[in-house]
Amino acid sequence: MADHEAITRLESVLDLQRKAFIQNPWISIAERKANIKKIPEMVLSNKDEIREALNQDFSSHPAAVSDFVEVLGVVARATYVISKIDEWTASEFRDVDPQMFGKSKGEIRYQPKGVVGNIVPWNFPIDLSLGPLCEMLAAGNRVIIKPSEYTPATANLLARMIKAAYPEDLVTVVIGGLDLAKRFPQLRFDHILYTGNPAVGKIVMGEAAKNLVPVTLELGGKCPVIMTPGSVTPENVKDILGIKMIKSGQMCISVDHVYCPRSEMENFISEAETYFKDNLADFAVSPDNTGMISERHLGRIKRMITQAEDAQVRSITLGGQASVSANTRQLPLTLVVNPPKDLDIMTDEIFGPILPIIPYDDLPTVVNDINVGERPLGLYVYSDDLATANDVVNKTNSGGAAINCAAIQGALPALAFGGSGNSGMGRHHGVEGFREFSNPRGVFTRGRPVEDLINVFTPPYAKGLQFVVEGGYQHALKSLQRA
Ligand code: NAD
Repeated sequence: MADHEAITRLESVLDLQRKAFIQNPWISIAERKANIKKIPEMVLSNKDEIREALNQDFSSHPAAVSDFVEVLGVVARATYVISKIDEWTASEFRDVDPQMFGKSKGEIRYQPKGVVGNIVPWNFPIDLSLGPLCEMLAAGNRVIIKPSEYTPATANLLARMIKAAYPEDLVTVVIGGLDLAKRFPQLRFDHILYTGNPAVGKIVMGEAAKNLVPVTLELGGKCPVIMTPGSVTPENVKDILGIKMIKSGQMCISVDHVYCPRSEMENFISEAETYFKDNLADFAVSPDNTGMISERHLGRIKRMITQAEDAQVRSITLGGQASVSANTRQLPLTLVVNPPKDLDIMTDEIFGPILPIIPYDDLPTVVNDINVGERPLGLYVYSDDLATANDVVNKTNSGGAAINCAAIQGALPALAFGGSGNSGMGRHHGVEGFREFSNPRGVFTRGRPVEDLINVFTPPYAKGLQFVVEGGYQHALKSLQRA
């Protein structure tokens, strides 16, 4: 479909969903559960097709990663949301001063926002479409999903699955190129979730601001690992490499670089070499190794490696030859040791299989290094001493954090997920995700029989409001003394 046709369709489905929302602004909780239940059903019955589509889009994509993240991860999130929806949608009653308001009640009622748009990146095309859909539907919204132009096979499959499961006025997928992507945030959605790089995040927020459409921005950044002294063990090194190799580093919460105590840096490198020699000698060309998403992304990673080599920085290739199969766009893992700060791998999010190892002499310098940079999406500390690990976590700022592992904070359906500063704003996953896509409406219900002082607002004030104000001052002073 040409982009102008895709844009016309987007505008017409938005209109359709908007009208459907106005006609039926409250989808019952039972219906919402039934709607969410279709998500696990669709991924489980299409798991082979999902594997195949990802394999086509990435040229090489491990079936186990597809099953674990894009199928089972989505199933876990949907079932969790279904189990929580009664609790999340229930009113939350808040304190109301009985002296002033008698038996009146104040409550937060979570109301659907309306039509939510989801702009999805290429790296987890099913998970980042259907995962947030669980919370969007739980909140009672209608949803338009726009997959990335880099994942055409998965986008087409997603469109087919969604079309088979939902009417177009409830959930639909729009597919197109960059012109469609640019048009999307210009439209009057009731909320937009954008997941992708920070540069485009700024464009999306700018466009959405013109209509005062609220946004959730799930962006990227350079997620550091901080190895505290004594933490360079074979298990920890294996852990870090394992997370880095998921999708060949093309994961927003992947390990970007490692801070390592200077005296333990050679040990880190030799543990990494031993692990690859013993277990993953041919990793680069194995089916466990995800390909770079496109020639352009492959070229970017290769240029980063060449830049480090040209600067005569020590680099170590793990898991096979530095060259790459043109068919699969697979790459080995490259460790880059103590690179200068001006290299691209030190300034940009790497998002590929390169791991800089940065030696340090004292932890406060590392904490300062992190704090003067952009806030990362994830931050990981390895230490047997929880007090030390928590001290690092408390003195830094990031979207999420993990202690003695990496990235797992993003895998829990119950744990709010999102960024801070340059890595984004807002949350999905869990109750925070449900609330992100809801309007937390404050509703006041006056008690009957009327035993409150609300009538004092009717002039003349000398007969009512002034009297209450005087009492109010005395009450305020007493409250302050008690506080
Ligand atoms: P991408 O190129 O697929 O772009 C993301 C989406 O933005 C796509 O749907 C694309 O069509 C759309 N887009 C592109 N230009 C646009 C424009 N001008 N206006 C509106 N939409 C536009 O993906 P990407 O940005 O390369 O994704 C990688 C980045 O995403 C990394 O920085 C990564 O860390 C981040 N990411 C973050 C999360 C998270 O949850 N925080 C998850 C995955 C990826």
